[in-house]
Amino acid sequence: MLVLNLCQRILFPMNPIYLTADRLFDGTGAATVLRPVVKIADGKIDSVAASLLPPATCAGDRLDFPGCTILPGLIDTHVHLLLTALDTNEAIIDETVKATDEELLKRGQSNARAALRSGLTTVRDCGGRGNIVQQLREQIRLGKVEGPDVIACGGPITTRTGHCHWLGLIADTHDQVRQAAERMLAEDADFLKVMATGGNMTASSDPMKAQYDPEALALIADIGRKAGKHAAAHVLSRSALPGVVAARYRTIEHCDWRVEEFRYEFDENLARRIIDQEQYVGLTLSGLARRAFLPQVSQWNIGPVKRLDMRFACERRMLDFGVRYTLHSDAGVRMTPIDRFDIGLRAAERELHLTPSEILTAVTRTPAEALGLADRGTLQAGKRADLIVVEGDPLRDLACLANVKAVMKGGAWVRA
Ligand SMILES: [Zn+2]
Repeated sequence: MLVLNLCQRILFPMNPIYLTADRLFDGTGAATVLRPVVKIADGKIDSVAASLLPPATCAGDRLDFPGCTILPGLIDTHVHLLLTALDTNEAIIDETVKATDEELLKRGQSNARAALRSGLTTVRDCGGRGNIVQQLREQIRLGKVEGPDVIACGGPITTRTGHCHWLGLIADTHDQVRQAAERMLAEDADFLKVMATGGNMTASSDPMKAQYDPEALALIADIGRKAGKHAAAHVLSRSALPGVVAARYRTIEHCDWRVEEFRYEFDENLARRIIDQEQYVGLTLSGLARRAFLPQVSQWNIGPVKRLDMRFACERRMLDFGVRYTLHSDAGVRMTPIDRFDIGLRAAERELHLTPSEILTAVTRTPAEALGLADRGTLQAGKRADLIVVEGDPLRDLACLANVKAVMKGGAWVRA
């Protein structure tokens, strides 16, 4: 295994690197490039060309990947690096509450390493404790810890008994909401996150109820905007959706249209506003949604499993309507290890009837657009050299994503 860290590469700039493979998916929506030659220099993509012959002269290193496909590094817009992905919510919460800050940081480091090696070159962490994820982000940035680029919010804003209150950024009144948003900025958050409804994971919260009124939701998004940061809202029922849309949150996490225990109500007017305001919804392919690959799940006689068909039908309708979307794992929640995004993406293919190309776009180009990361997401000249090499053709079979042969982040090999 060849491991070069970013610092070494910056200190000792290398010759251009040439990569060849059987095919390349560049993320732009163009057709697959056959027999690609990718030239990488100074941490960036210098060129992508198709060639019947290997590059004739290479004043640099050349690596051939026969039988493989080159793709942009994957971007997961919603993970929890500090959580353990155990089988039950209770066990995950217990492990998190009991852990010291040092233990949580260590857990984050090991999840970050696993994430990068599985092909994720950028992750957005949607909720940790205090500023531990920000510390991890800095360690990775300095090359002290191996991991993807991390976009962090720290502790999400929630109510006293609300969703993820055990992560601890509590705000009930408007004043407290304002203070919480300002504290996130003071703790160097990259974006602001609010739990706009309760969640399945926290028994004392109610996913059907909005945790904040529209005014509180607007306060948070506006404070973020003034600081040049985007905001994300967790929405597990229709109750909070009008407020989240009105406040123009950049990303709507889960974007659930449920109005009753077993009733979803898609609203075209609301969806039209989401499109017009260039908001993005993040669809969640975590544990239960992976039922096709986790046989035990289909046996569970619980609401979130019994509703899955309705949920996916509603999401499909939203996609057909034209809402911009990313696919995320929510890794760290139950049965959702951070290095198995491939299973979530195969679940998306099966449940949402998306094509592999649509799925790969929703975890490369679209998330880069949603998060304002203009330097990545596609394999084009001038973009940062974040790429992965997988064995086989993921455009025919997404299961290939489990066979990652190599990962490059910012022009440096992580694994080859
Ligand atoms: Zn989450």
